[in-house]
Amino acid sequence: MRPTSLDGDPAGPIRVARSTHPSGTRVRVGSLEVGGPAFVVAAGPCAVENTAQTEAVAEAVAGAGASLLRGGVFKPRTSPYAFQGLGEPGLTILSRAGRRYGLPVVAEVLDPAQLETMLDRVDVLQVGARNMQNFSLLRALGKVKAPVLLKRAFSATLEEWLLAAEYLLDGGNDQVILCERGIRTFERATRNTLDLASVALAKQRTHLPILVDPSHATGMRELVIPMSLAAAVAGADGLLVEVHPQPEHALCDGRQALTPAQFGELMERLGPVLQAVGRTLQGRAREAQADRAVSP
Ligand code: PEP
Ligand code: MN
Repeated sequence: MRPTSLDGDPAGPIRVARSTHPSGTRVRVGSLEVGGPAFVVAAGPCAVENTAQTEAVAEAVAGAGASLLRGGVFKPRTSPYAFQGLGEPGLTILSRAGRRYGLPVVAEVLDPAQLETMLDRVDVLQVGARNMQNFSLLRALGKVKAPVLLKRAFSATLEEWLLAAEYLLDGGNDQVILCERGIRTFERATRNTLDLASVALAKQRTHLPILVDPSHATGMRELVIPMSLAAAVAGADGLLVEVHPQPEHALCDGRQALTPAQFGELMERLGPVLQAVGRTLQGRAREAQADRAVSP
């Protein structure tokens, strides 16, 4: 039976409302948990470009303590002439790299027709900002068993974002992770405007876990570390960060990609900030940091 909306609007968010699950949803991805006390970091290239690039990023981010490997293979590009992703062969590269380094993988799905091939090889299905209100895609993802990472559209209000998640829960899939990735405002100095107030508010309004993507939110690698630390303080459950072994040669979003060394610095700096707000890094990250502390 359909529960009733607390604010009385029969078309308002219901199943995503915090009041339906006050202790918060924990989304399981293999042995990981997103939305529990531990903070999770998903990192990797914007796009899977080739085997060497993907393996190099996977090795670097696993070594620094990431919990998940991200990489796009079907890319939603603004221009039809821009690199569109490797498509299905990219899925094989990504899933092999994830398996080799023990990282579950996140990749974007653009079309329900891609689900069959993706479900075997991808652990978390990303819905990109451009597809947040693609209702036939949301309906299809409501029927799958895999977790979904739902990014906020550039122009979506918090209410619209939560209602997009409501489609997934209404379809039967409650394994949903939200992701704030910046919204479009009058400010052009950054690629988008990171709306951390909505992250803090969303934590009060919904039981779903929330990641922050400081890469697309700012478009500038030098802002990724400060915004990541701010996201941790604002109550995010984790990060989605772009990393490339040679950002200057990236086929997509190089300007916002961290180098592996910068990603290592981010992971180091997250520890004390999380501690200050009563959280810890996901176990794997803690182990990577402990290893570095004892190695000469
Ligand atoms: C991405 O994660 O690479 C991406 C395309 O993000 P967004 O949908 O937020 O633009
Ligand atoms: Mn990108």
